[in-house]
Formats: sequence, structure tokens, C-alpha cells
Amino acid sequence: MSIHEECGVFGVFSPNQTDVAELVYYGLYALQHRGQEACGIVVNDDGLFYSHKDIGLVGDVFKGSRLKQFPKGNMAVGHVRYGTTGGSARCNCQPIEVNHQKGKMALAHNGNLSNAYELRNKLELTGAIFHTTSDTETIAYIITKERLAAPSIEEAISRSMDIIDGAYSLVLMSPAKMIACRDPYGFRPLCYGKMSDNTYVIASESCALAAVGAEFIRDLLPGEILVFSKNGIESRKEHCNKKPKKTCIFEYIYFARPDSKIDGVSVHKARKKSGHILAECHPVDADVVIGVPDSGLDSALGFSEKSGIPYGIGLIKNKYIGRTFISPGQATRIDQVKIKLSAVEETVSGKRVVLVDDSIVRGTTSGRIVKLLRDAGAKEIHMRVSAPPFLHPCYYGTDIDSEEHLIACKYSVEEITKMIGADSLGYLPKEKLGELIGSMDYCSACFDGEYPTQVMTNIPKNKFEQKISDAK
Ligand code: SF4
Repeated sequence: MSIHEECGVFGVFSPNQTDVAELVYYGLYALQHRGQEACGIVVNDDGLFYSHKDIGLVGDVFKGSRLKQFPKGNMAVGHVRYGTTGGSARCNCQPIEVNHQKGKMALAHNGNLSNAYELRNKLELTGAIFHTTSDTETIAYIITKERLAAPSIEEAISRSMDIIDGAYSLVLMSPAKMIACRDPYGFRPLCYGKMSDNTYVIASESCALAAVGAEFIRDLLPGEILVFSKNGIESRKEHCNKKPKKTCIFEYIYFARPDSKIDGVSVHKARKKSGHILAECHPVDADVVIGVPDSGLDSALGFSEKSGIPYGIGLIKNKYIGRTFISPGQATRIDQVKIKLSAVEETVSGKRVVLVDDSIVRGTTSGRIVKLLRDAGAKEIHMRVSAPPFLHPCYYGTDIDSEEHLIACKYSVEEITKMIGADSLGYLPKEKLGELIGSMDYCSACFDGEYPTQVMTNIPKNKFEQKISDAK
């Protein structure tokens, strides 16, 4: 498995001067699975902004006394990043900070704009200069431009939402306000909660609210703008119900943590349901069901529940390796799957094994896991995948790549079964995706090519980082 979510966002608005940076730190820790390349925090102390951001995990970037160097404040925003649009350069670390004519702004973004290239091009032709290669700066630029004529920052955001298109869950801070906003399709999750001292917390996932002891209030509606200020909370809904709701179904299958709820649906339950469906659609005689940690485990449990085949712990994941692990020397002689995963011989030896994973991208990892289990003595391996085959790239904030890198675009199920060395292979049928969340309001473009927005298929995701020799 080698798919990455782009980002996680977290914000705190407190009526009291408090250790807001510490709260964001713990919130980002809970969101670390959404991005492991870089992170950052910006604290607002009475209109003055203090920031620190860098490449690395939350615990490394804010280690030692780094967190203590932030002043107390009444607002803060934070971000964890995995770069898709814009690569992993230090300049792309978020939150992005801008000084504009009407003051300051800090912005944290999860998602990808589908019209970023077009917008940035237009802006550059009018003289705009960009300092990063990420589409978040385009959003910041448009908001500050709109702010020139708009009576308030929230009105500037609302006007910007008529211009930008695609996936964006934003947490934004002006000197006096904290603003959360979710795009009209609701591609990426965003929710908020409240702590006992009237501090409000905004997060990509509900698991991060729980981590800081905040009580979940609700998810933001697609298109909603939520403004936190000393006057209270204001919800603006002028962009709600303008577009069909299209929450990313892969959030439930893979990206989100199983203890989160998105739009009222438990991620754990959705994954278990995928296991039920796989057991019904692709039944098999077997002795044990195992899952590939972490996101295949809940689905494996569901498969076991439905089929009556006992659930077992068949693979152990090295807990100290992140999703983006690369060996220091990029050594190719060492099988990296073996560093990440090991088979439990007692569970699989001499057994007919159902192996549940969340997806097959290029097939290389799946093949190595199958081999790992064969080496541990598994007699048969029946692979079940809790997502349909990937057939199209994602333009909404993940790195699901172009067709040429997706194994299902080139080979049939029978061919893939052979290539990964399994005895059988069954995917979750795409017509069944709605059953995972009990609704048809989802995006499944990477499975069916039905993109909810216009997408520029001819623009590479790293367009702004090409070598001179590649540039046209
Ligand atoms: Fe999610 Fe796939 Fe849609 Fe991207 S294309 S938002 S990964 S469902």
C-alpha cells in the first residue's frame, strides 16, 4: 500500500490566553496518519503571529523546548502535510502565513484545488509572484485579493469560494477571527468540538477532538463557513447545497482513523461493512481471516463475522515506521515490506488464509505480503480488497497516480492474481460502495472516472516543480 492523504488541519479558538500551541500539538499528533512529511503551528497572541514549521513528524519538529517557545495565545492553527501538489520542499510547509493590506492571515488546507493551475496561471499573468509550489498559496492569494473589496475576512472567503474549485477543508486565522470552511462538495472531512473552558477546536477528524478532550459538536456542512470571534460563532451557509455532496469514499476505506466518525458515519463500522460485503460477494473456504495492518484489520474482522471463519493476527507491523518509510540508503536489496511487516507463523502455517487489504495500487506490495505469508507456511492465500480496483488518478488531495502506475488499468483480475502470487482475488464491487456509509453522497472518481468537478487531466501534479529541461 503506498497511497497518501495530503494533509490534516487543526485549529483552536479560546476566550482565554492559554497554551494553544500545546493543544494544537496534541491535535496534530492524533492526525499524524494524514501526513508525515512536514508540520507546522502558528499561534495568534492578540494579533501577533508566532510560527514554527518544518519537514518531519510532529514529535520531531516540536521536540524539546520548541513548543515552549510559543507564547500563550487565544488562537492557533496547525497542519500535518504529505505533499502531492507542490512536493515536499520546506517552502510548502503549512500553515501558510501572509501579510496583506488588511492585516495578517494564516491558512491550513487539506485537499487539492482542481482548477489551481488555471487560477495560478491567470494570477501570474497579472504579476503575482508565488513563493511555494502548493495550491494552498493560490487560495491564500485569492482570499487576500478578495479581501481588498470585501467588508470582512469571511466575506472574502465566501467570494473566493465562487472562484476556487475542488477539494478544500480550511482552517484560517486572521488577527481577530478563526474561520473553518469546507468546500461545497465536502470532499474532505472537517468537524468541530468544544472543551470545558469554552475553547473551540476544529479538526480534520473527530479522533483529534477526542485526543484533546473536546466534545464533538458536529461536522461542518459541505459549503459551510464557520466564524469564531469574540462575538460568538456564526455559520454562513450561502455555499451550502449548491453542489452535490461528494465526500471521498476512500477516507472511510483507508485514510481516516477507524476511531473517527465522518458525517455521522463511523469509519470502523464502514470498514467492517466492507468485510461483510467481501464475504458475501467473494466467499471462499478457508481456515483463518487476517488483515494487513492497519486499515485492512477492521475489514478482515467484518469478513470473519460474516463468513464465520475465525479472525487471526497474521501480520505484525513495526510500530515505529511511518507510512512514508524509505530506507536511508534507498537499498533495493532489502525487502522494505519485511522491515514494515512480519508474518505470525502460528496463525498462518499450514492454513488456508483469507488476506484482507484496503487496496492494490501497483501490486508490488501485495506480492511481497503474499510471499511473506507463503514463507511462513500458508497453504493457500485468498486476497480480498476492501476497495474496487483503482482505474483513475485522484485530483482531490491524494497521490493516487496516473493510469500508467495503476495495475488494474493494465491487467485483468486473473492476471493480477497470478502476478501477486495469490490463489484467488476479489475486490469490493463499486456498486456496493454506498452500502459502506448508507448513502450515495460520495466521490468514487478513482474507481469509476466520474469526477464531480472539471479536472485538467493533462497537467502533471508537480507542474510547478519540473526541471528546466522538462518545461515547455
Ligand atoms: Fe477520494 Fe478517489 Fe474521489 Fe480522490 S478520486 S477524492 S481518493 S474517492
